Amino acid sequence: MTSALTPKWSTPDLHAAIKDHYDGLIELYEDLWGEHIHHGYWAEGEPDPGRHAAQVRLIEELLAFGGLSEIAGGARVLDVGCGVGASSVHLAGKLGCTVDGITISSEQIVRAGEKAAEAGVTDRTTFRLMDAMATDYEDGTFDVVWALESCELMPDKRKFLAECARVLKPGGTLLVATWCARDDKLAKDEARLLDRIYRDFVVSHVLPLDHYRTLVEELGLTGIRTADWSEQVADTWKISSEAVKPVVRNPSMVWKLIRAKGMDIFRFLNSVPLMKQAYERNVMRYGVFTATRAGDPS
Ligand code: SAH
Repeated sequence: MTSALTPKWSTPDLHAAIKDHYDGLIELYEDLWGEHIHHGYWAEGEPDPGRHAAQVRLIEELLAFGGLSEIAGGARVLDVGCGVGASSVHLAGKLGCTVDGITISSEQIVRAGEKAAEAGVTDRTTFRLMDAMATDYEDGTFDVVWALESCELMPDKRKFLAECARVLKPGGTLLVATWCARDDKLAKDEARLLDRIYRDFVVSHVLPLDHYRTLVEELGLTGIRTADWSEQVADTWKISSEAVKPVVRNPSMVWKLIRAKGMDIFRFLNSVPLMKQAYERNVMRYGVFTATRAGDPS
């Protein structure tokens, strides 16, 4: 397998970098992308609903894909890598379920709490600072484990998915959307492109979607389904490239950002066109998968 599909950082270094990245850039993310830190979904032949609506559409499509659109109000959901809580708040508000969101960015915890309060769902949401590869939840706690664009940040995919499976109730649903590699036969320049994306976006590494199917099978989950949504999400990067242009072209804005965030801000802004390239060159794909923990729901 090409080395671009293996972790590039030690776990402590990666976690420190992720924390710095999301703590430090929390406002920039919100200014540029809004509260959802994930791709949008554009259905073929439908009018463009706008970026924010496309991000909400992705959540709806994911729920439908996992057969969860009618999830029971009393269900417990774990939102793994919850960002500033946008999915958690959406799920708690729309479906009435109870959601625990976990992240390793303390700033995101604060912001997620504020968002839950604004949306009036504090009684159904809890945000905690916790490593998704080693949580403190009891076995069989959740009806749904929801991982929207956090799996690519996990250095040990097997450990991460095993932990997701462990905390699921028998009959519970795992639902993952994650950045993927086209396959494991990447040319050198393709691998280099991924390595730059890992560095600039603080991502551990990506895998091809079929590797995830194998991993989840090996963990004993059943009813596994996968889908490639690359075509539906790729426009995210055309739009994002346009969104960063005024920032890059505005010297006073750039200086303000450098003063606040240091020179790393350049890497971050540069990573946006890199992602666009990765989709255009068919190096990056967008995969979703769902599976069920064996056993009868109690
Ligand atoms: N799911 C959110 C955020 C995606 S950004 C959304 O769609 O808006 C990736 C998130 O994964 C960040 O919140 C980051 O802190 C979190 N994350 C990365 N590694 C993690 C880990 N080991 N444990 C828990 N959260 C992690």
